[in-house]
Amino acid sequence: MIIAGNWKLNKSPYETKEFLQELITNTNNGCDGDFIVFPPQVSLMTCSDLLNESNIQWGAQNICTQESGAFTGETSVKHIKEMGGQYTLIGHSERRSLYFESNEDTHKKLTLTLAQGVKAMLCIGETLEQRNQGETKAVLEKQISEAFAGMASLDTQKILLAYEPVWAIGTGVVATKEQVAETHADIRSILATKWDQNTASSMKILYGGSVKPANCKELGELNGVDGFLIGGASLKTESFCEINQLTKT
Ligand code: PEP
Repeated sequence: MIIAGNWKLNKSPYETKEFLQELITNTNNGCDGDFIVFPPQVSLMTCSDLLNESNIQWGAQNICTQESGAFTGETSVKHIKEMGGQYTLIGHSERRSLYFESNEDTHKKLTLTLAQGVKAMLCIGETLEQRNQGETKAVLEKQISEAFAGMASLDTQKILLAYEPVWAIGTGVVATKEQVAETHADIRSILATKWDQNTASSMKILYGGSVKPANCKELGELNGVDGFLIGGASLKTESFCEINQLTKT
């Protein structure tokens, strides 16, 4: 199981150092796992310093749609790569809703990420209104097709999906087992139709949305759930590691 933490706008470089030192100690003491952390951009150098010799992977929560140039305040995937980061997180619902990131933007970010040989974790998910209108599959299909527009094949070693229903992010409301199982199956069916069965079955699909130690086990047991993208519960090593231990396969 992949256990990924999206820290959002939490943890300074100093706090990141404290967290990572604890996480490294825990992983050396039996809590080994497939961890990825996405700290704020200013804390990424700390990840580079502490994690590049470890099995814990790290990435940026966002990158610019351009590689370099006059884009004040932005971060390039080239810089992430140079620092040893393995991932970019693309299309998180907060980027989409608060910073108006479009599917076209996710496409540009994915293309730049893959061109650098960095792995991309693309977040997709529907709002509550879209779910209630029965539009979930259509919304996901559009997010997927537009993000991967023009890509004849998908490298599933380099691309991961995180299914995050918008209504479950940071709300404490977790999707039911049935909703997660059905939607992950829908995502695989979209991939099989647009690409092929092999792409559909080999794509790693994480679930995200209010995952915590109390609910991770039953979700982790579902067929087709390859890991979790975790916000709130990734901010403390105790809960982050507990989720890893409870869902270890
Ligand atoms: C997230 O930010 O991607 C997320 C899933 O947050 P939370 O776990 O807090 O719902």
